[in-house]
Amino acid sequence: MRALCISLSLATVTLIAAAQRPQPAPLPATEPAQALYPLDGAFLQWPLPAGGQAYADIDGRHLHTYVVDQAAISRRYRDHGHPQFWGRITGTSSDAESADWLAGHFKRIALSDVRIQPIDLPPQWMPQSWTILATSGATTLPLDRSAAPAYGTPGTGPDGLDVDAVWVGTGSDADFAGRDVRGKAVFMFSMALPGSMNNTSTLEGGPKRAETRGAAAVFEVITLPGNSRNILYPVRVNVPVFALGMEDGYAIRDLIGRSERAPRVRIRLDVKQVPNQKSSLVWGTLPGASDETIYVMAHRDGWFDAATDNASGVATMIGLAEHFAKMPRERRRRTIVFVGLDGHHNDSGGVGRMWMVDHRGELFAKTALAINAEHTSTIQTYFYGERIRRANTYTAQLWYAGGPTRPKLQDIAIRAFREFGVSTYAEPEQAPPPGDLGRFFRFVPGVDAGDFNMYFHTDEETPETVPWTGLEASTRAYARIVDGVNGLELRDLQRPPEPEPGRGQP
Ligand SMILES: [Zn+2]
Repeated sequence: MRALCISLSLATVTLIAAAQRPQPAPLPATEPAQALYPLDGAFLQWPLPAGGQAYADIDGRHLHTYVVDQAAISRRYRDHGHPQFWGRITGTSSDAESADWLAGHFKRIALSDVRIQPIDLPPQWMPQSWTILATSGATTLPLDRSAAPAYGTPGTGPDGLDVDAVWVGTGSDADFAGRDVRGKAVFMFSMALPGSMNNTSTLEGGPKRAETRGAAAVFEVITLPGNSRNILYPVRVNVPVFALGMEDGYAIRDLIGRSERAPRVRIRLDVKQVPNQKSSLVWGTLPGASDETIYVMAHRDGWFDAATDNASGVATMIGLAEHFAKMPRERRRRTIVFVGLDGHHNDSGGVGRMWMVDHRGELFAKTALAINAEHTSTIQTYFYGERIRRANTYTAQLWYAGGPTRPKLQDIAIRAFREFGVSTYAEPEQAPPPGDLGRFFRFVPGVDAGDFNMYFHTDEETPETVPWTGLEASTRAYARIVDGVNGLELRDLQRPPEPEPGRGQP
């Protein structure tokens, strides 16, 4: 009994001592603890399958260096006088540097006919600079920390705008009901939704509604945790439209909410239409045992680091060139043509790829396969609380492999994705995922797998958001698909062209 009492009191003392030690403040349930390992060293690698030894040379860590190199091209452009609108921007010095860089790799790999084919661009929308300042009483909010003009949006003129702010929820008709937005800066929550990007960019079509009701400017608060800078695809309204990061969005919303009189917003956006710029197609050829062809293409342009979109695809293309160049020519049944496309993050619809479409008779008459390497690796993310959490793996891909009239090609692709660990949805897309293959698949057997991540078109789409494991999986799978297709005849793959509807934005 006595022993029990002693042990009880010891336990009590221990508890009291523990209670008196300073305790770390409890974390909110949605806040993570410290990371126990760096993600980059912990990405889950898909093991090389039995019988896959021929693809062991395709090394994701090696391919990832090409993503880093392309991000460095973007950052050099940013650091040389373009602090707000930067990236590998079509028609600029960063475009030229990316073309030279890619041609350099094609030459190093000893491809034939390496050349940079110049492309004349129509006048290009180039925002030179912008400032956005909201004020209410003694409070000022510099919203240009995250604000960025939607692609193609008009400027304000040198005097800028000085207007009242108004909040309209998510920008639906219900949100606008009973509100006077005439002559005001209209703020709304929005989401840059992949798949609804075509010409609207946004959740509810709020910018158009604001314009119709006489707004002076529109701000779409992109509801991604943090304060990222987003470039929206053209929203096709005639007043200035900006995307805003979520922290800046909350700040202006709360300022509007607690101000007796509407805050004022000063907006200045200097935009030029720059004529006479050039972009290019970058070509390299790996001659095979026949004049039948396989194309591998990847667009070189993108906003900010553009690491997924599309440094990843370009890295995959280089990886395929390196892999097949090691193979003796007689074992390559078909000639492989590699093309770095000018891209489509501009308002011209991709002049270079349209040149290819216009020359399809000579380019694609004997083409067995066109692989579009676009967004080939993307980190898996989740929302938890108001945070984007990153996982140690890559996301599933939207995919298309020739469509239902080419069951053999589809079967080869499904097997290759499974064998090399490319995560995909069970259902293919009816047409290629939005991107460059959309211009070609009606007359060329095409394969494309890619994803649109949370960081898509933002300044947070850095090389860290491109797992090397995903690059490895996608690139090995594409190499396997090339080999599989080389076991088929042209007649198994080619089909009469499908009718093409009007040309629009990707
Ligand atoms: Zn892309």
